[in-house]
Amino acid sequence: MKRFKALVAILLTLGLFCALLPARPFRPVEPIPADIVDMHCHIAGIGAGGSGCWVSPRMANNWRFGIYLHSFGVSRQELLAQGDNLVGDRIAASLAQSKYVRKVVLLALDGVVDGQGNLDTNRTEVYVPNEFVAAQCARHPNLLFGASVNPYRPDALARLVWAKQHGAVLIKWIPPVMDIQPDDPKLIPFYQKLVELNLPLLSHTGEEKSFSRAAAGLGNPEKLRLPLSLGVTVIAAHIASSARYDGERGPDRLARLMREYPNLYTDISALTNVNKPGYLQEALTKPAFAGRLVYGTDFPLINTALESPWYSLHLTLRQKWEIWRTPNPWDRDVLTKHDLGVPTETFARPAHLLGQTS
Ligand SMILES: [Zn+2]
Repeated sequence: MKRFKALVAILLTLGLFCALLPARPFRPVEPIPADIVDMHCHIAGIGAGGSGCWVSPRMANNWRFGIYLHSFGVSRQELLAQGDNLVGDRIAASLAQSKYVRKVVLLALDGVVDGQGNLDTNRTEVYVPNEFVAAQCARHPNLLFGASVNPYRPDALARLVWAKQHGAVLIKWIPPVMDIQPDDPKLIPFYQKLVELNLPLLSHTGEEKSFSRAAAGLGNPEKLRLPLSLGVTVIAAHIASSARYDGERGPDRLARLMREYPNLYTDISALTNVNKPGYLQEALTKPAFAGRLVYGTDFPLINTALESPWYSLHLTLRQKWEIWRTPNPWDRDVLTKHDLGVPTETFARPAHLLGQTS
């Protein structure tokens, strides 16, 4: 009992100590710009209403999947009754309530491709077709089309053209789950097409934990040297966080590439997640990342228990309270990152990079 009381006293003292800490942003705080574009927003579906979305039985039964549906603001029953378009409707409606974020890039997700170039459903966990995402973006002007094309599809170049014609603003990859080797010389025509169509490549780098299987080495930023050398604008997602490659930390490796390639950017999505401690600070203070950071949320992760202002030791009690009581997930994310020192230009960069300034 004595021990228990001592433990409670220690925890209370620690809690009080943390609550009274002053704000310690990682950089001087700057104003929040108007009309922010979130460059990294996911959508998924279960295939309801003929959406073409697909989830492997393994993923559908994974504990993560129920959390994802909940964080999208839908339930499986609702989707079965109303179709997967409901996910697009709910995202657009929630976004319309945001005070700070005007538009999001909604990301399709291509799957693994087999030797014949067809979707390999044995090795794909989540498939979100371009047609489905393009349709959501056509129905909601605050959603921008982020297409996904596995470059090993035989008709990959035609798919890029289709995406561009349907308003795509970038191409999204997660190499560790799509089994893509970004440094494969066979992909050179694909990269040349990206340059020709003026489509940036948003490529996941660093550890991937949202899926139940991932080939870790394919998130190595060094593998992006090939598209970078061909002039592709590359946005390496998540500053290659939580991973080491050949004994080198992911962000250090990415920083090295930044010095070599002015066409390389990195997004700050997911860096305030509780499982990525220290990474937002690193993004904001590493000199090589200055002027290269791009705002993104990794929605719906900002709407899960992975994100909370209460986890941060750098926000005041008042800031935590103000953020926590903010109902809109995008506004909570903007306020958190702003209070931690994310500069104006980082919030404004997606709109500039994607030609969305008006
Ligand atoms: Zn993501």
